[in-house]
Amino acid sequence: MTLVFATNNPNKLKEVQSLVPDHIKIKGLKDIGCTEDIVEDAPTIEGNAILKARYVKENFGYDCFADDTGLEVLALDGAPGVYSARYAGPQKNAQDNMNKLLIALATRSERTAQFKTVIAFAKANTITTFEGICKGKITKERMGDGGFGYDPIFQPEGYEATFAQMALPLKNKIGHRGKAMKVFLDAL
Ligand code: IMP
Repeated sequence: MTLVFATNNPNKLKEVQSLVPDHIKIKGLKDIGCTEDIVEDAPTIEGNAILKARYVKENFGYDCFADDTGLEVLALDGAPGVYSARYAGPQKNAQDNMNKLLIALATRSERTAQFKTVIAFAKANTITTFEGICKGKITKERMGDGGFGYDPIFQPEGYEATFAQMALPLKNKIGHRGKAMKVFLDAL
């Protein structure tokens, strides 16, 4: 079986290929000649995942899955959510995004947050979605230098360390993307 994963991120591709059984071959967007930027302008995380998976199925014919992730902060009514990548502006800079979030929460003791990943799978004429959630809180300052995005200021529930202070296998096990991938693969 060949599935397309709607990403051009080689790290994500490698991670996913290592998670699937040998008989499933994963191809990235470059592998199928899809070089255009798929515009992610849906108002929800789920909507963006669906939009990417559907685009590939409709334009290239392959069964395809796509993921989209957002950080939802309770005290900010779920922001940055679907806008997580560009929270501090179109430059999509992780340091700027973390600064903006730390400032927004500077006077707040309620710091509960969660990462949500939605995977959308487009096969034949149907689209199915799978969700992975990791609950935690936003720390008062950055801790650790591993990972990416908001990892240095996200402390998963039950752990003293932030994602940026964790080894990758642990982050994958308890993290949003790993959980969503597991539900998806179980369903395949
Ligand atoms: P994407 O949908 O995977 O591209 O994620 C959108 C944005 O959410 C990224 O640009 C990051 O800012 C943030 N993000 C997604 N996953 C993670 C994660 O595992 N750790 C920290 N930040 C993340």
